[in-house]
Amino acid sequence: GKKLRLDKILSHLGLATRSESKKLVKQGRITVDGTIIKDSGLQVDPEVSAIELDGQPVRYREFVYLMLNKPQDVISATEDRHDRTVIDLLDAEYLAFEPFPVGRLDKDTEGLLLLTNDGKLAHELLSPRKHVPKTYEAIVFGAVDEADGAAFKAGVELDDGYKTMPAELEIIRRYEQDGAPHSDIRLTIMEGKFHQVKRMFEAVGKKVVFLKRVSMGPLPLDPELSPGEYRELDEEELRLLR
Ligand code: URA
Repeated sequence: GKKLRLDKILSHLGLATRSESKKLVKQGRITVDGTIIKDSGLQVDPEVSAIELDGQPVRYREFVYLMLNKPQDVISATEDRHDRTVIDLLDAEYLAFEPFPVGRLDKDTEGLLLLTNDGKLAHELLSPRKHVPKTYEAIVFGAVDEADGAAFKAGVELDDGYKTMPAELEIIRRYEQDGAPHSDIRLTIMEGKFHQVKRMFEAVGKKVVFLKRVSMGPLPLDPELSPGEYRELDEEELRLLR
């Protein structure tokens, strides 16, 4: 296992915030291997040491579930030789869980990305057989119209010959920018082929110039999260995902 600050371990348990955890330690209510510890900064390996609160064992949680608003220019991987990864955005207290991104967003795509170390949940969300809907908002170069909506509903053929499953297109706004037609759209797809949204628009002769994922399954992106910000899922969100 890894050693972590005692207050971080306690906040991992989800039963106290970081400052509450510090308080519990100061109050002498925490023991590590039977000894009262009053230093929140003590390095402890939670998988090896027995931690108790008021004489009751506290169980170190196994999984962490994070909702990230992925910024552009960061890649959806745990390691990369050149680029910053989504893992580089996380605080040290979460790194101990060794979370990984649930699926991928392109380097230039923003928005909802779940990070967890719960392989089973990740697998279920990504399983092609589960058809978990993913909703994207995009700015498209070109005038997106009802014919595109009909084409996406019927399925379009991508550049590799793959025919997409029915998808739902919503046209939010059409406008001119720099003398050229642009469209703001929302698209919900039930699968996740490589560059799928971009390639679907290419199939109808248009180009995605900005892409953001706004929901995954029942989970919307928290609008309070700016690009680069993240937070833990709450109990209710976790229940929805399972
Ligand atoms: N579709 C894309 O083209 N890119 C993404 O990042 C996600 C879906």
